[in-house]
Order: sequence, then structure tokens, then C-alpha cells
Amino acid sequence: MAMRIDQALVVTAADTLPSPRVHLGNPRTGATLRIQQTLIAGAREFLRAGGAVEMSHPIIGPVTDPGSRGAKQADIDYYGHQYKLMTSAILYKQASLLAFDRIFLVAPNVRLEPIETSSTHRHLTEFRQIDVEVAGANRDDAMALAEGVVRHAVTKVLVECAADLAILDRDPAVLEAFIREPFARVPHGEVVRRLRSGGYPQAPGTEIEWEAEELISRDASAPFFIAGYPKGSRGFYDKESTAEPGTLLNFDLIAPESCGELCSGSEREFEYAKIITRMRETGENPSKYAWYLDVVRNGIPASAGFGIGVERLTRWVAGLDSVWQATAFPKLAGVVSP
Ligand code: ASP
Ligand code: MG
Repeated sequence: MAMRIDQALVVTAADTLPSPRVHLGNPRTGATLRIQQTLIAGAREFLRAGGAVEMSHPIIGPVTDPGSRGAKQADIDYYGHQYKLMTSAILYKQASLLAFDRIFLVAPNVRLEPIETSSTHRHLTEFRQIDVEVAGANRDDAMALAEGVVRHAVTKVLVECAADLAILDRDPAVLEAFIREPFARVPHGEVVRRLRSGGYPQAPGTEIEWEAEELISRDASAPFFIAGYPKGSRGFYDKESTAEPGTLLNFDLIAPESCGELCSGSEREFEYAKIITRMRETGENPSKYAWYLDVVRNGIPASAGFGIGVERLTRWVAGLDSVWQATAFPKLAGVVSP
């Protein structure tokens, strides 16, 4: 029974994807990919100017980020060991601070998202993140840096991609207005209150649901941060507040125009004992994380960082209906594709 339902969904989702010939031959795809290249170049420019060193992380490893909201990890057989494809670079980002105080990566991630996400317009099973980590930084520093990266990258598109924006019918004046104001920082509890007073039944103390995020995103006049998600909703590496136990020192950056989440980030747990506790609380078995815990046990810097979804940022900047349009070879949940 479950099998039949899944197959029906697969067919529906596959019907929405054009063939590579049609997709890549579409001038809108070309314009989108040039905008994406400019966004990445802008992010790189900004991060390097701030002293960050570009690294690359492994694509496979014995463990990966467990904090990816309902998505399954993809296994691969590595000489008889069950390895994972990276759902995010987080473990390697923290470890990389042993070499440099500020690092970034433009990193591929694979997340086997639930099949329902093939129609959310904002999930891909394979995507990239502009992933940043800074030693000694706190959450405010990380939010300021994420804001700087996004503003600089979008400004570069406004300066260099007028013809591409025109192909996509994306009004540059609208985009420019969105990045003119500072991005607000809104506590998670305040977002829940606003949603509930607007009639949306968002449960307090949990993740903001996707539909709810789309709602608050629709009315936003600029990107804004939601700060302080409740414990339980995120990975063990998001640091718990000591002032407000149960609340994490993390954030998401939400784009306007119903595009929703662009970026997640946090101040990190970096102390061995706390990490072990948080792993246990989140249902992770510490013994799986041997290489990471060996590094942590001997000390890693306190840090904060974030990951910006490249295709999601592109979708918003290019004004696209769906995130798959921001990739050359889209991968949607359950869809057999190149
Ligand atoms: N690992 C997070 C994610 O993939 C991003 C981060 O906190 O750096 O969503
Ligand atoms: Mg996220």
C-alpha cells in the first residue's frame, strides 16, 4: 500500500521536471545559472576580504550531520564500512578551525528528504551550501556575517546581472529594496505569537512549520532572522543557552516573497562533555562519532557559523517559482533524474 502511494507521488513529481535538453536550453535557466555564479562569486569575495580561507570537506565519511529535519542519510559501502554522504559539513567545519580561525566552503550536500517535499518548492535532495565557521564568534557575529554575505552577493547581482534579471522579469528595484534595510532579528517565541494571532495554529516550542514559514516570509519587507529555536528541533552542535535552558543559540535567515528559509546557523557546542550530553539527548550514539570526538576531546575553539543554501538564495534572487529551477540537474525527492 505504502509502495503504491509512493509511486504515485513519484510520477506526479517527475511530471513537473523538464528533460535536460528542455531545461538547459531554456534561456531562463541560463540566466538563473549566471546569477547563481555571481552570488557565489560575491559570497567568496566578501568572505575572503574578511580573512576567511576557502576549504573543501570530504563528501563521504563514517558519520554526518544528524540535524537535518526529517531527511534520511544516504549510505555508501566504503570497503565494507557503512559510510554516509554528507548531509552537511558541520563536523568538518568545527575541526577545520584547528587550521584557520575563519573558514568557508561551497559544499555539496545530499539529504534524502521525505517524499512530500517534492512539492514544497524549496527542497532538493542534492544541493550546495555556502558554509561558514568562525572561531571565537558568537551568534550575533554569525548573523551579522550572514547578513553581510547575502547583501554583498545580491548587490553584485544587481551590478553585474541586469540582462539576466531582465530575462527572468525580475525587477531589480524590488530586489534592491529588499536588501536596503537591516535584517531584523526576531525571537522564535515572537514568531509563534505572530503566527497564532494571525490565526495559524503554530505549536509553541517546536520548529516553525513550512507553511507557516511561507506565510511569514510572504509579508516580509526584507530578509529576517528567526533566533532561538527550541531544543529538540536541531542538531547536537547548536549550543544551548545557559540563560534560557531549552533554547538554542541558533537562527534561520528567512527570505521574503514566500521563499522561506535561506540559511541556518548557530553558536556551537564545543566542549566534549556537553557534546556527549547533547548527542545522547538527541538520540545519537556517541561511539559512531569517534573521529570527531577524538578531535573535540583535545579541544576545539568555541565558534559560530552558518550554511546558506545556494539554490534557495538563487531562487529568491532570481524570483523563481521553485528551487529546482536554480539547478542545472535538479534532484527532487523520489524522482529518478540525471
Ligand atoms: N549544519 C547546518 C545546516 O546544514 C548549518 C550550520 O549550522 O552551519 O543546516
Ligand atoms: Mg536549515
